[in-house]
Amino acid sequence: MKDLFILGACGSIGTQTLDIISNYRDRFRVVALSLGRNLKLGQELIRKFNPQVVCVREKEHLSQIKTEAKCVYGDEGLIYIANYKSENEMVLVNALVGSAGLKPTIAAIKAGKNIALANKETLVMAGELVNNLVKEYKVTLNPIDSEHSAIWQCLRGEKKEDIKNLIITASGGAFRDRTRAELLDVTKADALKHPNWRMGEKITIDSATMMNKGFEVIEAHFLFDIPYTNIKTILHKESIVHSLVEFNDTSVKAQIGTPDMRIPIIYALNYPEHVKTPSLNDLILEGKTLHFEPLSHERFPMLDYAYYAGNKGGFYPVALNAANEAAVHLFLDGKIKFLDIERIVYEYINKDYSSLEYNIDEIIRLDSKIQKEIYKKYGEF
Ligand code: MN
Repeated sequence: MKDLFILGACGSIGTQTLDIISNYRDRFRVVALSLGRNLKLGQELIRKFNPQVVCVREKEHLSQIKTEAKCVYGDEGLIYIANYKSENEMVLVNALVGSAGLKPTIAAIKAGKNIALANKETLVMAGELVNNLVKEYKVTLNPIDSEHSAIWQCLRGEKKEDIKNLIITASGGAFRDRTRAELLDVTKADALKHPNWRMGEKITIDSATMMNKGFEVIEAHFLFDIPYTNIKTILHKESIVHSLVEFNDTSVKAQIGTPDMRIPIIYALNYPEHVKTPSLNDLILEGKTLHFEPLSHERFPMLDYAYYAGNKGGFYPVALNAANEAAVHLFLDGKIKFLDIERIVYEYINKDYSSLEYNIDEIIRLDSKIQKEIYKKYGEF
């Protein structure tokens, strides 16, 4: 039996995690849930999974939730969950959105919890520090991201020195077939129409700008310890091939499956087992055609920005993430245009961060400083 602590339970990954684990009441027990603003759904999840701890976003939400569970709130509430001890093997599923995911991941590692990570910002912001903590506290960190789950599966039983390249597939997002000129006046509603995946708003915008793929390159670098020059991307609009690994002898392994996040979720939670999951649909290959094309860095400059920031290391990925996060929120609020997101990210990765001392507090401080600065500049406050 594993004890699950699910952060971001009402979001896309959170609800899909709860959906898929309800097939395995004998394997998993939900010990804690953190809820967002959808308290009606939160109440339903509490009734269904009966957790010991519930975290709500705001203090005012406490009175709106009916439960016997210990109730906590806000960022401190997330840390309370990360620190909470239970009897069985503890797994924290981090499905929070954005930089808010970093501190709870760190606290959970220090509390001896294994991590199932959907919050890619954690590794983008602090991959090196998180990896060191994972080693120091002897916990595991399993990816919940279809591409990284694919690479992880392809690498099973392989030696690192045999790897030539990791090849991350990209669906192309909502604007795959548009030119840059056609992006000038796209709306929030246009950007939120992802062709293949059902996801939250922030990651859907990140897919449309291709920042998501850039983050995934950085994530892959830290998860698999592969240099950036050996991490490639490719456009694959069907989202059936979830990623590939190319070996020195030119042999290539791919992991394929239906585009359903519940598959990488259940794999991350059951690793190394592939358990029988009756509620998932079999992949039907008959009649399917798969396409692969180069992913243009001129069309999607955010990819270059991610490689640039990743290669510079230190605080550059922090700046990349912070500028992107603030800009995406401003776009979702109708304050800036779609292409302004790129412009703002470009501006912030071109500042000098070399004098800062690399540690968690400085990372969090820089993240919040950049985000506040961008909100202020574009009229948020
Ligand atoms: Mn992904």
